[in-house]
Amino acid sequence: MTKILGIIGGGQLGMMIAEAAKKMPENVSKIIVLDPTENCPAAQVGAEQIVADFKDKNAIIELSEKSDIITYEIESGDSEVLKSVEKNAEINPSPETLHTIQDKFLQKTFLKEHGIPVPEFIEISNIDDVKEGLKKFGYPALLKARRDAYDGRGNFKVDSEDMVQTAYDYFKDQKLMLEKFVPFKMEVSVIAARNTKGEIKTFPLVENIHEENILRETIAPARVSEEITKNAEKIASQTMDVLKGAGVFGIEMFVTRDDQIVINEIAPRVHNSGHHTLESSETSQFEQHLRAILGLDLGSTKLLRPTIMYNILGTKTFEGEYKPLEIPEENLFLKMYGKKISKPMRKLGHFNLISTNNESVEDLLKKLESIKPRAAV
Ligand code: ATP
Ligand code: MG
Ligand code: MG
Repeated sequence: MTKILGIIGGGQLGMMIAEAAKKMPENVSKIIVLDPTENCPAAQVGAEQIVADFKDKNAIIELSEKSDIITYEIESGDSEVLKSVEKNAEINPSPETLHTIQDKFLQKTFLKEHGIPVPEFIEISNIDDVKEGLKKFGYPALLKARRDAYDGRGNFKVDSEDMVQTAYDYFKDQKLMLEKFVPFKMEVSVIAARNTKGEIKTFPLVENIHEENILRETIAPARVSEEITKNAEKIASQTMDVLKGAGVFGIEMFVTRDDQIVINEIAPRVHNSGHHTLESSETSQFEQHLRAILGLDLGSTKLLRPTIMYNILGTKTFEGEYKPLEIPEENLFLKMYGKKISKPMRKLGHFNLISTNNESVEDLLKKLESIKPRAAV
C-alpha cells in the first residue's frame, strides 16, 4: 500500500530522503515536509511543504493529519507534541526514543545504564557542579548543552580554571552536562537501521574527519584494524538492541589511544557520515531509512567500493549568494543542496569520490587533495 510520508525538517537530509522515495513509487505516494525556510531543499525536489517552525504545534498536528507516517531529519522536534499526534500517524523513530536521544544527558545515561561505553559525564545544575566535575575529570573537559546542539555549537572546551566562568556564562539558561575529554585517535561511525519488524542491519564502519567540529570528510571503510572494526560494529549492534524505534540511526564513536571504542553520540536519523552510501553501497542510507519505517525488508549494507565523502562548506570569510559548483571529474558524484545563501562553514553540498579501478582509500585521498581547491564556495 502506498503511504504519504511526513518529514519534520526539509533540509538536505529531507531532500535526499524525498529523492529516495521517488524511486519507490509503489511504497510512497507523496512527501510532505515541515520546514521554516520557504522552498527548502526538500521542496525543491518535489516535496509538498508546510512552512512553519519545527516546534510549531499546529503545524505538527496538520502534518500528522495529512500523513500516514511521520519521520524526521532533525532531532529537535517536540517529542511531547509528537506523542500526542500518534493517533493520527505512525511515528518512526518513536517519540519515546526521540525524547531519550535529543537530550545528550538522558542519552548518555541510557547508554551507560545498558553497559554501552561512553565518556565519563555528569549533570550540571550550577557553576559549583562544573568546578566539582573538573576536579574529578581534570582539564580539558567539555561543557555541553544537553539539547538542540549541532556542528559542535553547543560545546565549550574548558582548558583551565580561569575559563570556567566564561564557559558557564556562554550557555545562559540552557540545561548542561560536563563530559571528560577523550583524547581520541580517530572518530568513526556506524549507520544502523531497524525496521518495524525488528530486523537490524549495520553499514560498515567509516572514519570521520572534522574541521572546527564540523564533519569534513568521511572515509569508507575506516582505516583501522579488523579487531577495532569488529568491536565498533558490535557496540553499534548492542546499541540498536537496547534502543527502541524503527529507522536509521547515526552512531558516532571515538577510537581511544588504547584502541577502545566509546560512543560520542547517537543521531535518531540519517547522518552526514552516511552520505557515501549513495554511491558506495548496495543500498543508500536514505532508502534504508524508508525501508525501515515502511516495514519493508532492509536492504544489503554491503560496501561495494572504497569511497570518500567530502562536504562542501561555505568559506569562512564569506556570506551571500554564490554560484553553484560544478566539478567535472571522473568517478566524482557531486550533490549541491540548493541553498541560496552561503554562510561560513554552512553545509552547501557534498561529493562522493569512488574507487573504480581498485584504487585504495589512500589513492583516493591523494586525488582528493588535487580536487579540494575546486570544491570551495
Ligand atoms: P553534530 O553536528 O555531530 O550533531 P554536536 O554539536 O552534537 O555535533 P558533538 O558530536 O557532541 O557535537 O561534538 C562535536 C565534536 O566535538 C565531536 O565530533 C568531537 O570531535 C568533539 N568532541 C565531542 N565530545 C568530545 C569529548 N568528550 N572528547 C573529545 N572530543 C569531543
Ligand atoms: Mg549532535
Ligand atoms: Mg556529533
